[in-house]
Amino acid sequence: MPVQKRRAIIIGGSMGGLFAALLLERIGWDTHVFERVTAELSGRGAGIVTHPELVETLALVGIHPGDDLGVPIEERRTLGIDGDVIGRYRCPQIATSWNHLFQMLRNAYPAERYHQGKELVRIEEHSGGVTAHFADGSSMEGDLLLGADGIRSAVRQQFLPDVRPVYAGYVAWRGLVEESALPQAALQDLFPYFAFCLPPGEQMLGYPVAGAGNDLRQGHRRYNFVWYRPADESDELRRLLTDERGHTHSGSIPPPLIAARSIGEMRSHGERVLAPPFRELLRVTEQPFLQPIYDLESPRMAFQRVALIGDAAFVARPHVGGGVAKAAHDGMALAQALSTEVDVESALNRFEAERLAIGRRIVDQARRLGSYMRTRFESLEERQLAERHQTPEAVMNETALLTFLHGADFGQAERVQATM
Ligand SMILES: Cc1cc2nc3c(=O)[nH]c(=O)nc-3n(C[C@H](O)[C@H](O)[C@H](O)COP(=O)(O)OP(=O)(O)OC[C@H]3O[C@@H](n4cnc5c(N)ncnc54)[C@H](O)[C@@H]3O)c2cc1C
Repeated sequence: MPVQKRRAIIIGGSMGGLFAALLLERIGWDTHVFERVTAELSGRGAGIVTHPELVETLALVGIHPGDDLGVPIEERRTLGIDGDVIGRYRCPQIATSWNHLFQMLRNAYPAERYHQGKELVRIEEHSGGVTAHFADGSSMEGDLLLGADGIRSAVRQQFLPDVRPVYAGYVAWRGLVEESALPQAALQDLFPYFAFCLPPGEQMLGYPVAGAGNDLRQGHRRYNFVWYRPADESDELRRLLTDERGHTHSGSIPPPLIAARSIGEMRSHGERVLAPPFRELLRVTEQPFLQPIYDLESPRMAFQRVALIGDAAFVARPHVGGGVAKAAHDGMALAQALSTEVDVESALNRFEAERLAIGRRIVDQARRLGSYMRTRFESLEERQLAERHQTPEAVMNETALLTFLHGADFGQAERVQATM
C-alpha cells in the first residue's frame, strides 16, 4: 500500500506561503495554499533588492532566473541637497520587482493547489491533526498548519492575541516612475544607482527595477523610490490616513484615496529638502503611495502543529531589505526540521528554537537603522546613538545588506569608500 503523504495547510499565498509550500513539496509533503484575496496578488512593495541568499533559495525550489532576475546595480551614491555626490560605495546587487518574484514562485507551484478567495477564520488542533476553517464554511484537515498570512495574521491572533504591530513613528512615501518619463538629470544622476539623499531626520532612496511584464530593456525599466519621513502617531499619521471624505483608515490607506492635500504637502516639502534629481523624480510620480512603518515581534512561532513564518511572525523595518529572504529562510528551516524529526511537534519546536533568535535580531537591527527617523527621543544619548546611523557611510553600508543572516554586527562604516 502506498504511504500517504503528510499534508501541510498554508495560510497566505504571498512570498512566504509560496516559498514554504515549494520547499515542503520538495521533501515529499502534500501542500495546499489558501489565499484570502480573490484576484491575483500584484504590485505590492514595488521594488525588492535581492541578495545571493535569495537566489540560492530560488534555485532550491527549481527557479533559475539567470539574467532575468532584475536590473543590475554596481554602485550606491548619496546626493547632497545641491545634487553633489557626497558618498559613493561600490556594491553590486540586483534589484527586482515584487511582481516578478511573485510570478516566478506562483508559476512554479501547481495551480490546482493554490486556492484563492479562502479566508481562514479559525483553527482547531486535535490529537494527530489540525483543521483550518474558512469564512465560506469550508474546512481542511492536515498534519501541519503554517501561518504565512502577514503582519495582521489571523493565525497569530488566535494563539497570541496580544501581539500587535507597533508603529515606528514614521512613514514611507513610495513611488514608481517609468524610465521613459524621467527627466534628464534624474536619468543620469539617479537611474544607474542605488541612490540616497539624507535630509535631517529623513531618508530618501531609490533604485532601478524592471518595467511592466519584467521588461529589462533600456528605456522600458522603472525607478522605484522610498522616502521615509517622521509622522507623529496622534496627529500627522492620523491626518495622512484620512481620505478626502474624512474617513480615517486604520493601518494603511489605498493609494487612490490618499488626500490631495497630503500629496501636495509631501511634494512641496520635497522641493525644499531633496537633491534636484529626486525633486524631478517626485514631480513626475503620478500616484505615490503611503506606507506607515511598523515593528512586529512574536514571542513564539510554534504552537503544537501550527507555526508562524514570514511577516506573520516578525516584521522588520524595510531598511534591512530582507523581508522576502527572511520568509524564504523560515521555509527552509522548517523543511529542514521536518526532514530531521519525524514527529511534527518536535520539528516545529526545533524550527522555533532556530528562527526566534534570528527574527529578534533582524527586527532589532532594522529598528536601529531607522531610529534617527523618530521625532522624540528619551535622552541625548539615545539621540546620539540614533544619529550614528544617519551618515552617508552608515546608510550606504547598512541598508539592504542582510548582515543579520550571518550574525554580523554594526560598526561597519569603515568599509565605505565615501568621497566626502
Ligand atoms: C516599504 C517596504 C519595502 C520593502 N522592501 C523590501 C526589499 O527590498 N526586500 C525584501 O526582501 N523585502 C522588502 N520588504 C518586505 C517584504 O515585502 C515582506 O517582508 C514579504 O513580502 C513577506 O511576505 P509574507 O508572505 O510573510 O507576508 P505578506 O506578503 O504580507 O502576505 C500575507 C498573505 O496572507 C494573506 N492573508 C492574510 N490574512 C489571511 C487569512 N485570514 N486567510 C488567508 N489569507 C490571508 C494576505 O492576503 C497576503 O497575501 C519591504 C516592505 C516594505 C513595507
